[in-house]
Amino acid sequence: MLIKIPERSLVLLIGAAGSGKSTFARKHFKTTEIVSSDALRGVVSDDESDQTASADAFQLLRMITGMRLRRGRLTVIDATNVQRPARKALLALAAQNSAPATAIVFNLPAAVCLARNQSRLTRPASAEVVEKQVADMLSSLPGLDEEGFQYAYVMDNTGDIDSAQVLRETWNM
Ligand code: GDP
Ligand code: MG
Repeated sequence: MLIKIPERSLVLLIGAAGSGKSTFARKHFKTTEIVSSDALRGVVSDDESDQTASADAFQLLRMITGMRLRRGRLTVIDATNVQRPARKALLALAAQNSAPATAIVFNLPAAVCLARNQSRLTRPASAEVVEKQVADMLSSLPGLDEEGFQYAYVMDNTGDIDSAQVLRETWNM
């Protein structure tokens, strides 16, 4: 699968815990291009899985994203992004900074995400949480094209994810 991304854009990774977002981000993007909700939970609380740190972490995530987009820097959001209001806030930041937005969905079954979650070093998300995230991801798919993304890519299996190539397009104004 060829994933075209405008050079100065906002990229939202969308998928449940364990769907492979962080692994994909590390493979295809520079460390400084990735803004991770887990990493920012760690920054404020010393514990990436401390859910009580979420509000602060997401406040930081939006602040960093806004600053990067103002500078025209490609920014990849490594968070679940499975709920529409979360995507809407980030799409608004992109629009404020005249940056196009791209969605990359990790459409894997809950069983796969759960199995991968179990092998995590940090505290894994519960089965209920992962199943809810997968359900939210699935219910997001039909309307995704109307949310304002310039491109929306849906990877439907591990083969799509393994074979994905990211191509950065220079953006002609
Ligand atoms: P995230 O929660 O969506 O960020 O998922 P991660 O990228 O942290 O991946 C969760 C677990 O699945 C980790 O243990 C990864 O090593 C593993 N994983 C991620 N991507 C792949 C993949 O493409 N193939 C396999 N076999 N394992 C993967
Ligand atoms: Mg992750």
